[in-house]
Amino acid sequence: MKIALVGNQNSGKTTLFNLLTGSNQKIGNWPGVTIDKKTGIIKGTDFELVDLPGIYSLSPYTTEEEVSRNFLFEENPDLIINIIDATSIERSLYLTTQLMELDSDIIIALNMADIVQKKGIEIDEKRLSSELGIDIVSISALKGTGISTLISRIKSGKITKRTEKKIFRNDVEEAISQLEQQIEGVHKRFVAVKLLEQDILFSYLINDDIKRLIEKLTSSSGIDMEEDIANMRYEWIVQTKKRSVIFKKRIETWTDKLDKVFLNKYLGIPIFMVIMILVYFLSVGIVGAATVDTIDNAVGNFKEIMSEWLTKLGASEWSVSLVTDGIITGVGSVLNFLPQLIILFLCIVLLETTGYMSRISFLLDKIFRKFGLSGKALIPFIVGSGCSVPGIMTTRTVEDSREREMLITLTPFIPCSAKLPVISLFAGYFFKESAAIVTVSLYFMAIAIILFSAILMRKVLYKGATTAYISELPEYKLPNVKYVIKDVWEKSWGFVRRAGTVIFVCSILVWVLLSFSWKFEYGVDINESILASIGKLLSWIFYPMLGELSWGATVSILQGLIAKEQVISSMSIISGLASDVSNGSLIFSSEGLFAFFTPASAYAFMAFTLFSAPCISSIGTMRKEFHSTKKMIKAVIYQTTLAWILSVFIFVFGSFIEVII
Ligand code: GDP
Ligand code: MG
Repeated sequence: MKIALVGNQNSGKTTLFNLLTGSNQKIGNWPGVTIDKKTGIIKGTDFELVDLPGIYSLSPYTTEEEVSRNFLFEENPDLIINIIDATSIERSLYLTTQLMELDSDIIIALNMADIVQKKGIEIDEKRLSSELGIDIVSISALKGTGISTLISRIKSGKITKRTEKKIFRNDVEEAISQLEQQIEGVHKRFVAVKLLEQDILFSYLINDDIKRLIEKLTSSSGIDMEEDIANMRYEWIVQTKKRSVIFKKRIETWTDKLDKVFLNKYLGIPIFMVIMILVYFLSVGIVGAATVDTIDNAVGNFKEIMSEWLTKLGASEWSVSLVTDGIITGVGSVLNFLPQLIILFLCIVLLETTGYMSRISFLLDKIFRKFGLSGKALIPFIVGSGCSVPGIMTTRTVEDSREREMLITLTPFIPCSAKLPVISLFAGYFFKESAAIVTVSLYFMAIAIILFSAILMRKVLYKGATTAYISELPEYKLPNVKYVIKDVWEKSWGFVRRAGTVIFVCSILVWVLLSFSWKFEYGVDINESILASIGKLLSWIFYPMLGELSWGATVSILQGLIAKEQVISSMSIISGLASDVSNGSLIFSSEGLFAFFTPASAYAFMAFTLFSAPCISSIGTMRKEFHSTKKMIKAVIYQTTLAWILSVFIFVFGSFIEVII
């Protein structure tokens, strides 16, 4: 027995298909087109099931429609399982009225049973079934309910043969029966209706008699036959729905009330922006400003104490410098940012667990779709704002494989928490009170880059629209305190651990390369050091975005490949060794190596650090999720090139503004 699974896009076809067939699946392409052809054997039977492309109609306008109707018409399956999204009956039945015209038997799988009631929809299934003349089994493909009933109903072979339903006006119905008598072969009613619609695929059957018939019908209705038929279908559906579906007025819950505000067409996005600005104002602005100096002083004092103590113990000059100017400065400069990160982690986990973030996915869905992404993309982005590694891994939750690959490249554009120290230092120093706005502007720049890149990829690499889809929003909840604490703790501890390992080792390495010349002489002027000579070799790369051939900035940026916090750590060690001041907050002092920075080059520097290739662990994760080294390399080259162009543009444009004001 051959069975076809037919339904709208996102009605749950694939989910049901996977449930019914388990692992007995074959995936290929439909002849001539690159649309998936999935076939499988229904568990416990020898029935072959074919997952047809999602369609809204059997008209000849899209490739999906063509594939589906060719299959239904020519292969003439014994049974059609018409899957219907019970929460949008009207749209679904439009297709059903067309399937009813075929000779094949039909059974309706009324899907999303788990959410219809919550949406206040009550469906009188018996009534609907008799109105349509089709058996209905209510299921939830997601929760797996009703599936065994569906299978046993199919196995029983006792699917009621429906009586032909009169859907159209009398004169049209008469014309249809008249045509049916002239048609040979199968699916007579379907062909008759198509002839009246003057469907191009049946135009070879049209003769003068039929033309006259159509003329007569159109003269009485006054509109095009195709449109007339569509209207009559809808009218019939509306009547049927009125008799069998009840929309209850639900008592307004807290969730409904809050959604009226947060999901408001006009207010939703602005509220989201304000919330994000507040989050950064609180963490980077208030908490950041309050703690950075204190910690800086503490680190400075600690350095002095250590230095005195080590000298007293008789340690050599270079070993004291290694501990204080290398390790303590390097690790300390990163730990500086811990308090603001804790607040940031806290705000984000609160927004997540209360259910607010899923609203934003939903709000952004419409916008993202214009760019070839879906609202589901927001999840890797939000997770990625903590760390790109788990962010890239959550792209697995996106069903559409092309969108998934796009997201693996796009997720690292979101500033992760390790990049935050860079933003915080530069924005705080060069933009003062506007630091929070500048920070948020970088996030919006990240979004703009992501959307731009998405369009580009959809044009070049991954043609077609996404099929990922959000079907349900969770209720708003008070956050679970235990979960929140655990989440903030894990992320913060992860940050501290990196400072104690990666940053610790790198700090030692930077100190060594800074303190020695190629001849391995200690205590040379840092401009003669090994690190300086490496930096000088490459500093031309960053000249166009800094306006200065700076070996210090060059080697610091490059260390971002190891870990993004390391950029700051390296700059602190370099400026600590360059001048006598051991205080990390004096990185940009006028005697220092980084005195050349202006707001324009600072902004460009931040943009490059943020948007160029991510750190080495993220690159590794990208490779793993792509299952391809080649794709990973391409993605990294794309990210870095884009970041470079953007930063140069920012610097040139920004310098121009600086000149004006
Ligand atoms: P297709 O486009 O028809 O193949 O639809 P999919 O099977 O890809 O499902 C689209 C979306 O609807 C997915 O996010 C599914 O998880 C979701 N979905 C499918 N069936 C159900 C269901 O019974 N209940 C709910 N709540 N969601 C479902
Ligand atoms: Mg599908």
